[in-house]
Amino acid sequence: GPGKGGIVQPRSQSNRPSIPPSSSNGPPNGSNGGGTVSDTTKNDHNTINDDEEELPEELQHLDKELVLKIQNEIMESGETVNFDDIAGLKDAKQTVLEVVVWPMQRPDVFTGLRRAPNGLLLFGPPGTGKTLIGKAIANETKATFFSISSSSLTSKWIGEGEKLVKTLFAVAAYREPAVVFIDEIDSLLTQRKSTENEASRRIKTEFLVQLDGAGTSKQGRVLVIGATNRPQELDEAARRRFTKRMYIPLPVEGDRRVLIQVMLKNNNHKLTEAQIEILAKETEGFSGADLKALCTDAAMGPIRQLGAKAMEVDVKDIPPISFKHFKRSLKGTRPSVAPDDITQYVEWDRVYGSSR
Ligand code: ADP
Repeated sequence: GPGKGGIVQPRSQSNRPSIPPSSSNGPPNGSNGGGTVSDTTKNDHNTINDDEEELPEELQHLDKELVLKIQNEIMESGETVNFDDIAGLKDAKQTVLEVVVWPMQRPDVFTGLRRAPNGLLLFGPPGTGKTLIGKAIANETKATFFSISSSSLTSKWIGEGEKLVKTLFAVAAYREPAVVFIDEIDSLLTQRKSTENEASRRIKTEFLVQLDGAGTSKQGRVLVIGATNRPQELDEAARRRFTKRMYIPLPVEGDRRVLIQVMLKNNNHKLTEAQIEILAKETEGFSGADLKALCTDAAMGPIRQLGAKAMEVDVKDIPPISFKHFKRSLKGTRPSVAPDDITQYVEWDRVYGSSR
């Protein structure tokens, strides 16, 4: 939150080891942005975390306060996500590896037609792992991860939105390779309506400008990932910028089984494989987030069962989570996505989705 302050340790600084740097094999795309001087210093600076410190030269033309805010509130140093942590979505993960991760790791190999897209759009129902994929990409490519939601751009950063977008991309370019993840991208790039106010129109224009520049050799390796539950709100100008558009669907039965297994891991439970299979069958239409809510509720079952004794109980005497607890929780849990919405995603994917 805003009051956090303190020292921010960008994850990618400490463990940014051995991706083969393209610069050792000559500059990517055969072009040279004249960046050789800064390239040598770029990777060993630390986050600027107080007002005393000077901004690095490359960022000195920017509003210092805003740069600090970005580093504190938008640049993420939290938990790392691996592709293995993401259940199911086999095709999506494979595609992401081929079109994004490898090209970001080896820009010298992935040139021309193989070049990484500047913009990746992840669309589909909420709670299906879009954010996880964004984080996994950043982790896998040792990129700095910046994450912001469109609604905070237009509300929390009110009045500074346009400048924030510009500064954000400058900081990202400086910290390349970088992934800029923008949640609810639809509300940022929504089709122009006559009611649209001047401020959000300017943010949108600035964002499109930055998207055009992202990933070019001048800007360093910056991948923009937009996530949306409402892809149909994106206009042509927005779609065109996200050259890769991937549908992240609801988990199918097998994926749901894996998700439940993963979530039960490290918990005291006595569900059999067969019972987990039944749960996977009966949770048709559940998203990953819905399943998590279900498991969380079921995990409370043993505690509820203890009633008033729960606060005095010995940990070893807490009964294991059982199938019965799940059945009870299932009664109170409905999938958050309507079947009609799914039809819309499938249709949008057919028309605008990228073929694999
Ligand atoms: P969104 O698609 O809305 O960005 P998230 O990636 O934030 O969804 O997922 C929300 C939560 O749901 C995750 O933190 C995770 O606990 C769970 N989840 C959703 N999909 C998956 C998945 N495929 N594998 C593992 N966990 C998942």
